[in-house]
Amino acid sequence: MSTSTNSKLVRGYEVVIGLETHAQLSTQSKIFSGASTAFGAAPNTQASAVDLALPGTLPVMNKAAVERAIRFGLAVGATVAPRSIFARKNYFYPDLPKGYQISQYEIPVVQGGQVQFYVGDQAHTVRLTRAHLEEDAGKSLHEDYHGQTGIDLNRAGTPLLEIVSEPEMGSSQEATEYARALHALVVWLGICDGNMQEGSFRCDANVSVRKPGAPLGTRREIKNLNSFRFLQQAIDAEIQWQIDQIEDGHEIVQATVLFDPDSGETRAMRTKEDAHDYRYFPDPDLPPLVIAPDWVERVKAEMPELPRVMAERFQRDYGLPAYDATMMTQSKAFGAYFEAAARACGAPKLVANWLMGEVSRRLNAEGRELADSPVQARTLAQLIGRIADRTISNNGARQVFDALWSGEGSDVDALIEAKGLKQVSDTGALDAMLDDVLAANTKSVEEFRAGKEKAFNALVGQAMKATKGKADPAVVNELLRKKLGA
Ligand code: ADP
Ligand code: MG
Repeated sequence: MSTSTNSKLVRGYEVVIGLETHAQLSTQSKIFSGASTAFGAAPNTQASAVDLALPGTLPVMNKAAVERAIRFGLAVGATVAPRSIFARKNYFYPDLPKGYQISQYEIPVVQGGQVQFYVGDQAHTVRLTRAHLEEDAGKSLHEDYHGQTGIDLNRAGTPLLEIVSEPEMGSSQEATEYARALHALVVWLGICDGNMQEGSFRCDANVSVRKPGAPLGTRREIKNLNSFRFLQQAIDAEIQWQIDQIEDGHEIVQATVLFDPDSGETRAMRTKEDAHDYRYFPDPDLPPLVIAPDWVERVKAEMPELPRVMAERFQRDYGLPAYDATMMTQSKAFGAYFEAAARACGAPKLVANWLMGEVSRRLNAEGRELADSPVQARTLAQLIGRIADRTISNNGARQVFDALWSGEGSDVDALIEAKGLKQVSDTGALDAMLDDVLAANTKSVEEFRAGKEKAFNALVGQAMKATKGKADPAVVNELLRKKLGA
């Protein structure tokens, strides 16, 4: 079960969600043919005889697709099946020339495993049922054909890894964070380009509701959600719809539905087929997929450091809290940036704070990736170094950061100088000024001596004012207490 402890009820109902995610594997050629998988070619220029299902052609398994499935299996702690089976999933649709899709059914290549992620600052684990290899179908083109429909078979035979979760997510937010974590993982592993606009990563959300303690409710499956925002909106709309139905005395009928982002509603496409409708059977054209242990070992040896392992290392080596460490490993770019900056300035927690705060805020607002951040790791490290050595205050640092970001300058020290942001922490310079402050505020001094701690803050405030905010507050504090004999 999910480690969720905060699965909130919606109008008195418990929500149950399981996701089926299709990740397009980043191979050069298709899963069973040599045709290119490149996106955006003119229709039907990348459909080979195999993809067109011409008589007499036979599929040949693409090793690179299998290797990517193994990489995934290892990353989620699953069992990589030593022997798995390809099956035919039979259905009739114009974009499926063979009349069946080659998939895996009873024995998938990846079995079990789990994905870990955060919802807010709370850790969650969702178990995976399986992940199997399959081919994508073609595409019906309804536009530009004056009432006719065209078929583009470029996508037919594109390798997919379908990743199936257990039904154990309790909210749209949890489902969305799971999907984000999965997306980050497949991109990190280099097995999927993660491009959601191009359909390289899409989710089907299975949703049901029940009264607490009741058996699982009947689910409806929302198909083909290719943005995290739509995923969350679609699930929320579906939850409300199902509860309305039940409250009105109707039963939920298992169905496949589509989400219409314009109306914000889910709409039934067809009542859901059961597995037997697909007449699955082992594909006689493909031998069992045998993965010898030494192949798994070779793939393991070539795996990048996993995000979870890197996060543990960041906790251990840099003393980061678990949450920060996870945030710093949301992508390879974040991990590398954090580590470079932390090493350069020696203040890892401050680096994490800046990356989660100011830097992320600016990136999100401008829809940019960390890789094209105008403030690179070395520069941020310099800036943080100046906070750590108390040359500038946090407030001053934010001004320098803004200037760096907008390209007003590129040298941290030069900007501090130009903007006059240096804190005065030199005791000699502050000494005389503090004497003046005490002389001018005898009332506060008396109140403080009479035991009013508030009066001390007023004196610090006066001192900061006298230096136009440039005094180092910690030094002012210390000197004032000394002068007052406290
Ligand atoms: P199928 O392959 O026919 O779509 P599965 O039983 O393999 O059906 O389940 C598909 C997905 O539906 C899985 O992600 C699973 O977690 C989810 N699921 C199954 N039952 C429910 C339910 N009652 N409510 C929500 N999700 C469910
Ligand atoms: Mg399904």
